[in-house]
Amino acid sequence: MGIVVIGSLALDCVETAHGGIADAPGGSALYFSAAASLFTEVSLVGVVGEDFPVSEIRFLKERGVLSDGLEIIKGGKTFRWSGCYELDMNKRVTTNLELNVFMDFNPVLDERSRKSDYVFLGNIDPELQLRVIEQVQNPRFIGADTIECYITDRRPLLDKVLSKVNMVIFNDEEARMITGEHNIIRAASALRKLGPQYVVVKKGEHGSIMVTDDGLFMVPAYPVDSVIDPTGAGDTFAGGLMGYAAKSGSIDSGTLRKAIVYGGVTASFTVEDFSLNRLRNLTMDEIENRVDNFRKMVTF
Ligand code: AMP
Repeated sequence: MGIVVIGSLALDCVETAHGGIADAPGGSALYFSAAASLFTEVSLVGVVGEDFPVSEIRFLKERGVLSDGLEIIKGGKTFRWSGCYELDMNKRVTTNLELNVFMDFNPVLDERSRKSDYVFLGNIDPELQLRVIEQVQNPRFIGADTIECYITDRRPLLDKVLSKVNMVIFNDEEARMITGEHNIIRAASALRKLGPQYVVVKKGEHGSIMVTDDGLFMVPAYPVDSVIDPTGAGDTFAGGLMGYAAKSGSIDSGTLRKAIVYGGVTASFTVEDFSLNRLRNLTMDEIENRVDNFRKMVTF
């Protein structure tokens, strides 16, 4: 039962128009776990160095995240990412990327994680994503994300991942880069031909679309009037989506449509503060309140 997630655990340096933060906990697996654990049990697989401030992610343990698959390398340096956002926060530039302990990482899943029904492959080298897929015994549903550098540098392995997953959750630029299609609807259809039955394309503040056998579903982003730092919004979106789907226990278009709404609403909290700060004390009641508001805003 539950979800097993692999992805980056990072020390992030971020600059936005509202200021910046240095060496703050981040990474796809952390944002995902912080979101998904509000809905269901999550097993976290990843690696950090001795420089990682473990006390800052204690809240995940309190939320029931299982961390037996989290390695702490003595004397090792944690993965680092630095990014700078333009005034249009849909645009960002990566200014530094250091793989550090991820270079020699070999994920090994414990007995419990191997039995997970749901798997999420967050942004990380597709080779590591594949190693996780190989170890899970009988998954019901595998979702995956990626990021620019793996599309350019690791394409054959990424294609292998795509052929093995049920759903991809990519942003619009990633969907365009992989397929060579500029139009998002065409890009989503082209992605489905590479393997996944369900394709979700995130369009930042413009919301997201899902393309399945049943056609197209589109959702606006939950509007927030103070976007401080969009880092991790995509991973939080995936965490809310997969968390909701895993909790509901069924995989059909109706459930996945609701899951996308929950993903978007959960992500709307992440952007209100730097790093994981807003997710730390986030409650299901706050999420349900925004889902109710969202329903009112889109019903006519
Ligand atoms: P998002 O804003 O959802 O795209 O995710 C941003 C997070 O992804 C940051 O916390 C980074 O630490 C992490 N990240 C950025 N680049 C990479 C990469 N190449 N591999 C893995 N994680 C990354």
